[in-house]
Amino acid sequence: MIRDLTEWKRAERRVEASLRSLEGTNRQLSQFASAIAHDLKSPLRIIRSYADFLEQDVGASLPEKQRSYLEGIGAAVRLAEEQLSGLMRLARIRESELVCRKTRLGPLVRKLVHTAASSDQARIELGDGWPTIITEPLLLRQVMGNLLENALKYNPSEKRAVDLGWVRLPERHIELFVRDNGPGIPAEHHEKIFQPFRRLHAQSTIEGSGLGLSIARTAAERLGGSIRLRSKVGKGSTFYVRLPEEGPQPDGSAEC
Ligand code: ADP
Repeated sequence: MIRDLTEWKRAERRVEASLRSLEGTNRQLSQFASAIAHDLKSPLRIIRSYADFLEQDVGASLPEKQRSYLEGIGAAVRLAEEQLSGLMRLARIRESELVCRKTRLGPLVRKLVHTAASSDQARIELGDGWPTIITEPLLLRQVMGNLLENALKYNPSEKRAVDLGWVRLPERHIELFVRDNGPGIPAEHHEKIFQPFRRLHAQSTIEGSGLGLSIARTAAERLGGSIRLRSKVGKGSTFYVRLPEEGPQPDGSAEC
């Protein structure tokens, strides 16, 4: 049987060209965001310095209302600086070259838990038998660090508890999970919270740049993996990180 594949080949080339063009546009957007974030840092630093000068020179003599204005400027500038740093980190994750290596996940997660536990009273349980995989340890630390930080930060329970564990999946993949006994997240927000600056908690109650989960998802995807969430209001949240055991695949978003 003979089949004419000319049209099929042509369509394949068109798809490849569109993909390349999309990657180029994404890279440009990322570089643009990074350049703007970098340029905005300087004027923000100046605003913060002037606010500090005012505070030092006349802060003590100001009426309470005007003092609160100054504090408001300081807090807003700090948040903007944190958001710009987050945007730059996001761009770096997208653009940087990956250096993957054999990584023992046991020591990696134990270190994170140790750091978190030194400043937090929550009960943090760690599964055992953690595997060794090929990955970029700094990016993975960023993913798991952000999820662990959120599990503790957005958890007002009296007895806060966080479990970290892992399971082996088919096709040489593993899944790490971070489970908390916090308030849970309504289903309609499960995807939205991964978008930059989407927050369900007001800045006045719990501080954050609104970029933690976007950074975690971007980093997981760069590692050839993905993140999903299972959560019900009142039943806590579990974030799952799926990763290839042998590093990002050559046809994926990154090479190692
Ligand atoms: P931030 O960097 O400000 O902490 P994130 O991007 O990490 O923000 O998270 C986005 C929003 O998702 C948070 O404002 C919070 O409302 C919600 N969230 C994230 N993790 C959890 C969690 N474990 N439990 C409940 N809510 C969460």
